[in-house]
Amino acid sequence: MGNELPRWIDAALPMVLAATGLLHPESPATYYACLGVAFACLATVVLGGAAVMYAIAGRVGTRIQGPRERPPKLGAEAFESGRAMFVAACLAAWPMAQWQLGHPTGMVWDLGDHAWWAVVLQTVAGVLVIDGWLYLKHRLLHTRWLFGFHRAHHAFRDPTPFAGFAVAPVEALLTFWPILILCAPAATHWAPLYFGLVLGFIGLNFYLHCGVTWRWIEATLPRVLLNTSAFHNVHHSHVKVNFGEAMVLWDRICRTRAVDADTEPLEAAR
Ligand SMILES: [Zn+2]
Ligand SMILES: [Zn+2]
Repeated sequence: MGNELPRWIDAALPMVLAATGLLHPESPATYYACLGVAFACLATVVLGGAAVMYAIAGRVGTRIQGPRERPPKLGAEAFESGRAMFVAACLAAWPMAQWQLGHPTGMVWDLGDHAWWAVVLQTVAGVLVIDGWLYLKHRLLHTRWLFGFHRAHHAFRDPTPFAGFAVAPVEALLTFWPILILCAPAATHWAPLYFGLVLGFIGLNFYLHCGVTWRWIEATLPRVLLNTSAFHNVHHSHVKVNFGEAMVLWDRICRTRAVDADTEPLEAAR
């Protein structure tokens, strides 16, 4: 796909998603109030957290790609992460408005009759399935037909935490659409576990893009099949391997890790 069409689609998508609020069957005003709150919260956490992690990673840890040859593209990374958070906020505003208007959603604080172990089991299964989807999405975005929608993330060959969510809008939609599942009251999500996982995913993405390794974290995360800074940094520098986003499970199963014998020889990204 040529360069221009994905760029136009990515430019239009946030406006289209925001405009869907006009179709809110009960209260577009509530939708837009929720969109504002969601965007303010997500942008503050993602950009504020990235700033803190950037400062820490500048002082502590071992640089993966050696001394930087040129300054990082902080502004471009922050813009792209901020735009992705706007897409996520456009989605989150739907279940938030449903809750604000007094309707049940899939988010519960009290487990009621649900057994806690069943909810935990269901959550683990959900995480594996969503991580499998993120892996598949990433592989598809690396095909020549769809790479135009993923090019933005690979503009950062030696990323910083500001690139943690620096994906263009179409990819952001493909990543964050499961937020809409919260609109279904039958899809029970236990709020403390859900928000804990969301914060964990945000923190993991800061680490994956921080450009340095911390030995004890590199040793710990693979034990629970989670991605590491050293692992994901190779995806930025060499592009064709290590596609896992939160976990390394699907890279192992599909043998797409840099260390897998039958992977094509590594070719450094230009
Ligand atoms: Zn990345
Ligand atoms: Zn990629």
